Amino acid sequence: MVEQELAARIVAEVDRGFDAQVAFTRDLVRYPSQRGQEHTAQDFLHDAFAERGLKMDRWTIDVADIENHPGFSPVNVSYDNAVNVVGTHRPRDETGRSLILNGHVDVVPVGPMDMWTTPPYEPRIEGDWLYGRGSGDMKAGIAANLYALDALKRAGVQPAATLYMQSVTEEECTGNGALACLTRGYHADAVLITEPTHDCLVRANVGVLWFQVEVRGRPAHVYESTVGSSAIIAAYSLINALQGLETEMNAEKGDHRYFEDHGKPITINVGKIAGGDWASSVPAWCRFDVRAGIYPGTSVEEAKQRVEQALRAVCIDDPFLSNHPPSVTYNGFTAEGYTLEPGSDAEACLAAAHQKVRDVALTDATMPAYLDARVAVLYDDTPALVYGPVSEHIHGFDERVSLSSTREVTRTVALFMADWCGVETV
Ligand SMILES: [Zn+2]
Repeated sequence: MVEQELAARIVAEVDRGFDAQVAFTRDLVRYPSQRGQEHTAQDFLHDAFAERGLKMDRWTIDVADIENHPGFSPVNVSYDNAVNVVGTHRPRDETGRSLILNGHVDVVPVGPMDMWTTPPYEPRIEGDWLYGRGSGDMKAGIAANLYALDALKRAGVQPAATLYMQSVTEEECTGNGALACLTRGYHADAVLITEPTHDCLVRANVGVLWFQVEVRGRPAHVYESTVGSSAIIAAYSLINALQGLETEMNAEKGDHRYFEDHGKPITINVGKIAGGDWASSVPAWCRFDVRAGIYPGTSVEEAKQRVEQALRAVCIDDPFLSNHPPSVTYNGFTAEGYTLEPGSDAEACLAAAHQKVRDVALTDATMPAYLDARVAVLYDDTPALVYGPVSEHIHGFDERVSLSSTREVTRTVALFMADWCGVETV
């Protein structure tokens, strides 16, 4: 651990900079960085990183650079605005261990606006909470990474190792943003991602598959509906089968380390549905989009087969579907889960920083959601620590992040950085 007097100075500087950090986070939340429009938020971060004297790299993800990597997920949208930003700090003497501080700038759609108390991209503070889409997931984390570095510098020191400050896109749909950083050559001795984990360290997570199922029916006027076949009713059967698969997979949790005690590790979510053209016509088509969790250790191929088998089983018993099977298209995440093996130096270092700041031991948790940390753990053999503030309603409405928790996380990140990288005077 960094010596006592310096640690106290760093913590004091985090506190001194915190009002500015909150203002910065609010500014970042104002950018509606949903998929396809991440570039303006990335420009804002690019300038903020550059102001700190970091050496900047800003690029648009090129599918050709990553599509042959085993961690690649298929893409069906334009990447014109899928911009990654990395700022590099180099020390005078490289004596410490290098570090990637990572966060994702993309946010998910807001849903019906009238369900928000105040508009999602007009951040507001009430008590300890900062509200807004992306406040928790995870713009507070990106700001914490940057302001932790600021705090070190104001305390008169800087990391004595290479530090990469990363802001990536595509975390909410493919994981291709973090993957593009790896294939571009960014590697360090450890990775820290400040996702909103409620001050816990993520021990394991699930992989994720995205796919779209399309059913074609036989259209007919409703007066002779018996000659038709409804694609929407057929979709119901297929969705039921996927729910059955979810139950089956959750019943297997005892076979998966770190998932045994989780309430519901696997969710197969039908997140979008559309179908039919006319109330008085038997619908000729129905399409629905699915996100399925998969246990770490399950390959993408195995998971795909299991999904397709579950759908096929419905078709075999159905007179219409057996002749008109649905199509399945993988249109996003085809990402495997990971486990962070206990005992790494990086984890010990984070635990020590957390203990110092919070005066309680660092706990770990299993996360039943996709995380970019899988890129480092699975494809770069590098410990990736996912640890960040308390937040609520992420992906819902009135998303919010706790400011007091964000401050504690920033202190922890700053002390972790100082300890892991070592320090030299500015
Ligand atoms: Zn996130």
